This record gives sequence, structure tokens and C-alpha cells, in this order.
Amino acid sequence: MLYFSMTEATVSTQAIINGTILTMDRQWTVHDRGMIIIEGDTISEIGPYCPDRLETLRIPLDTCIDARGGIVIPGLVNTHTHIGMSLFRSLADDRPNRLLEVIFPLERSQVNPKLVHIASLHSLAEMIGGGTTCFADMYYHAKETALAARQSGIRGIVGQAVASKGGPDAKDFPEAVQLVGNLQELLQDDRLLAPAIAPHAPYSLSESELEYCAAFSETHNMAILSHLAEMPFEESYVQEHYGVRPIAFYDRCGLLGPRSTMAHCIFASPDECKLLIDTHTGIAHNPSANSKSGKGIAPAHALYQAGARIGLGTDGPMSGNTMDMIHQLGITAKMQKVLLKDPTVMTPRQVLRCATIGGAEALHLERITGSIEIGKRADIVVVGTDSPAMFPVYDPYAALVYSACPTDVMLTMVDGKVLMRDRELMTIDARSIRKEAQGIVDSIRARFSHLWES
Ligand SMILES: [Zn+2]
Repeated sequence: MLYFSMTEATVSTQAIINGTILTMDRQWTVHDRGMIIIEGDTISEIGPYCPDRLETLRIPLDTCIDARGGIVIPGLVNTHTHIGMSLFRSLADDRPNRLLEVIFPLERSQVNPKLVHIASLHSLAEMIGGGTTCFADMYYHAKETALAARQSGIRGIVGQAVASKGGPDAKDFPEAVQLVGNLQELLQDDRLLAPAIAPHAPYSLSESELEYCAAFSETHNMAILSHLAEMPFEESYVQEHYGVRPIAFYDRCGLLGPRSTMAHCIFASPDECKLLIDTHTGIAHNPSANSKSGKGIAPAHALYQAGARIGLGTDGPMSGNTMDMIHQLGITAKMQKVLLKDPTVMTPRQVLRCATIGGAEALHLERITGSIEIGKRADIVVVGTDSPAMFPVYDPYAALVYSACPTDVMLTMVDGKVLMRDRELMTIDARSIRKEAQGIVDSIRARFSHLWES
């Protein structure tokens, strides 16, 4: 699925040297002391380090990106986020009825374009700093998220949330759909960002509205992002209103398919897993958020083994609280081992696959990103091995999944452009964004502290 404009980028040649390259290609190719050549936005060569080749290509050694013995991986793909919510992080955690009693009232009164813009930039600083090169988001005022993402240089799918009752940015469903149209116009010629229509969940839109979203996606060749089989009440609600279970209901509405990515799918039965796979629907697995809310553990290993398009996600900053993907790796492995009472399932290699090429497949972007292969866009991350927890490294996959921290990431490159190097962000001034965010945080604290202090 190619949603992006294919306009040419300016061509310059770069090289990454002196790292262990985990390509995440079909053969699981690893280059121990490897070299990657990048022409403009595209990976043009991968192989063992070769000084003669650098000379032929006239790349001076001192201009190469030195991985300093680190681990070089494809950029991490965060398949489910709400990055405009980061200024609500740590607010009323672990409260019963948090969604209805805290989040919805907060959003109704506080969410506006300025907040979404600043909160999005704040999240992007964390995400890029932690090695995320591609994300899929669904929230209100999505235009602001798109503008923030465009400034940051990240790749992604930006979804405008739609629901029967609208939201803080729309009074009803038609008005929300109008915002999807505006977003599409904004991103028409964007090289890195594509729009999505994002129906919130099976219980927040009517059947005809959900069918409309499916038709809209088909007409405009636009991605669909949604929550599915996540809430404990969802199953009985959908069963009562429509006589089927949520995943079958979404299929009936035309919402499953090769443009769709469904977040959670915690309550997917074996038959429903097969339906998701047969329809080529992408799945965003969010183990950190799902465990914190006590909802359950999605059958991620079963889906993986059956060949699903399954990637990992953080969910929003009120759900899993951190927005970086490295935090998701270990918990993905551990939750499946607990679920199946088997230490051999969901190996570090399988987890890293989900976080990279699996995530790209879940977003239907695997032709562009997700692995280090010739012809793919240069979305590349270097994870350093200097910190105590990253030594020794007998198995680089295990080191990444079980030991790494987001702060170990030393380089984040998207489309051939360095967005973070040696912990310095190139496109976002995190300090000034935080300063700007502080005023909003102070006013939220003053107005809403009763929600979490009582
Ligand atoms: Zn979500």
C-alpha cells in the first residue's frame, strides 16, 4: 500500500560503519562489522565493512556515521499512539472508570489545537530519542499532530478520530469526517506522512457510520485506524446491538482489510485471529497499556506464529505512560511467556521482528520501511552498547529486548536524514517545548487536581 508522494529527494551519499547490523530481512541476515551505504533517502548497499568501497564511492572516513560497536537495526515502528495526550501523563493513573470520569471530561475542556500541537512535539521528542522512525496515531485535531510530525521529520500515518458524538474538535460525525478531508488535503504531497480515518471503536459509532468510514477509506485509498476487541464491555455491547462479536461486526462493516490497522485485539478467539489474518488486517499489540489497565493479554504469539501482520505499540501516554518502543520489547516477550506458561515463546528475535518489519506490515508500509534492505528507505537506528546493562552482548537480539533502555539509542535516521545523534535532537527543541507545555500543565493541575487527589 503506497500512500506517500514519491517525489525525488536530494541525493547525497552517506555510510554507517562499525556496528552489528540486524537487517531483519527474510533470511535474518546479520553483518557483524557491517557497512550500510545510503543514497539520498534510500539504502543502496549493505555488507561487511570495506574501506576500499568507501574510497571508490568517495566517502571520506571522517564523514561516516560511526556506530562505535553498537547494534544497527531498522527504525522502530510504533503502530498505535495518541501523541497529543502527553500533557495528561500520570494523571489519575489506576483509577476506576478513568476513561469516563477523568479522560473524557478532561478532553472535552482541555483539548484544543495548541495543546495537541505542543503535546505531539513533546511525544515526538521522546519517540525519536528512543529510536522510533515511524508511527500511527489517532486523535483529535489531527492536523496539529501532522504539523508537529512534519516538523520532526518522522514517518507516519496520522489519523483523525471520528465518533458519533464528535469530540473536542467536532460537534458530530459529519463534522469529524470533514476534518479527515482537511487532513487529507494538508498531507496530499507529503513524502513521509499519510492521513487516516480513525473511527474510535465499535461502541462509539453506529453501524452506518462505520460503513461510511470503510467506504471513505476505499474511495480515497486511505488507511483506517481503530480500537478493536479491547474493552471488557465491548463484546456484550456489540453482541446485544448487532448480534455478533466485535471482530465479525467490523468485518461486516467492511473495516477489516489491507488498509486497516486494529489496535489491541485482546479478546480475539482463534477463529477471529484467522479472520484478521485472512483479511490482511494489521494488528497493533500494546502489552504495556493492556497490562497497566488490567484488561488482558492479546494472543500475540499465536497471531505471530499464524503469520499475522502484527506490530507493537505504546498506545497513548495516559495508557502505557512511556512513548518509546524499547520499553515495549521486554514486556512483549514476558507477557506472552506468562500467558502461555512457556519461556520458549516470543523470542527476542520474534519481538524485534514485531517492532520493526512486523510493525511496517501492520501499517501496510513494508515495501517502504521496516528492514535494512537495498531499495528501502533509510529508516535506521543505532543502539549503543556502552552502558553497563549492554555488556556483554552474546546475543544482540536478547540485549535489545531484555537489557536496552531508550537512552542507549545513539542515532535515529528517517528517510536518510539524521533526526537524533548522540542524544541530540536535530529537528525538535525539547527544552523550549517543555517550557511552553509547563503553562498548560499548571492550568490542568489547578483545575483538575480534585480528579486524582480525592
Ligand atoms: Zn489507543
